[in-house]
Amino acid sequence: MLAAAVVSIGVLSLFQPRELILETPSIEVAGERVTLREPVTVRADGRSLVVRIGTRELRAGLLTGSGPGVRIELPGRMDRRYMGSFKIAVTEGVLYPVIYMNLEEAVGRVVAAEMPSAPLEAQKAQAIAARSYYEAPARTHTFFDFCDTTHCQAQFAGSRPQPVSATDGQILRHNGRTLRALYFRSCGGRTRTAAQIGFRDEEYRYAAVHCTVCQRDPHTWTRTLPPGTAAPRSEAERLALGRRFGWDRFPSNDYEVHGTELRGQGEGHGVGLCQRGATGLARQGWDALSILRHYYPGTDVGGLP
Ligand SMILES: [Zn+2]
Ligand SMILES: [Zn+2]
Repeated sequence: MLAAAVVSIGVLSLFQPRELILETPSIEVAGERVTLREPVTVRADGRSLVVRIGTRELRAGLLTGSGPGVRIELPGRMDRRYMGSFKIAVTEGVLYPVIYMNLEEAVGRVVAAEMPSAPLEAQKAQAIAARSYYEAPARTHTFFDFCDTTHCQAQFAGSRPQPVSATDGQILRHNGRTLRALYFRSCGGRTRTAAQIGFRDEEYRYAAVHCTVCQRDPHTWTRTLPPGTAAPRSEAERLALGRRFGWDRFPSNDYEVHGTELRGQGEGHGVGLCQRGATGLARQGWDALSILRHYYPGTDVGGLP
């Protein structure tokens, strides 16, 4: 049962690719299965994709491949290998590669992106949070369930999945439901409730819990407000300003305004597991379950449904 757990992940979507090179044993396009002896180039043309194989040019609205894996190259920029079957959708001249990824590989890629050098118990806590996120109802994407950016969960370029097999199949639950477990980089000594940053979450409100690691040694920052801009009052406003002025301009929601200067602490939305705190607690000897119970009070850890 666990072996069949698969999530559809939209990859490279940040780059809005118009052309990709695929290397895989075979593809299906326009009702035809084609064995590939060398990499093929796929390009977008409006609502169609065009594949050139030798002297032939195949045109279709969708391309699929049964794997077992695929190398996807964004010419001159990115080169990634994935295990699993895949599809390439297209719309408005943009290609959308989607991997049907084994859940444990997807979790391993998040751990590699988020906690590459943390102690094992912190990585295990991160793995359980990431798996829970993938198992809870998905965000609203058109061609896939989750993207590979921080909008859903980041799976960095080139990083090898970091298997945390000790947590295989474990998820966080609240009132019997899988929790879409949120996490973030660091806090100012106390995490936030969902309501504090304007998140609406009817299922789980998140508690503001003490984070002794960040309290003792907070990550602090100072930034200047861009002229004519008001300081963000919610996570949605912070993200909107980040898109406009750069992601580093407003590192967190936890700050004070001094004239045109923001003096803040922490990085990220502040809701759920604090990665810096989890890392510090693991160094003090906390195990993954204690870390999770601390940052997600009222939840329990169990097997996949
Ligand atoms: Zn997303
Ligand atoms: Zn913290």
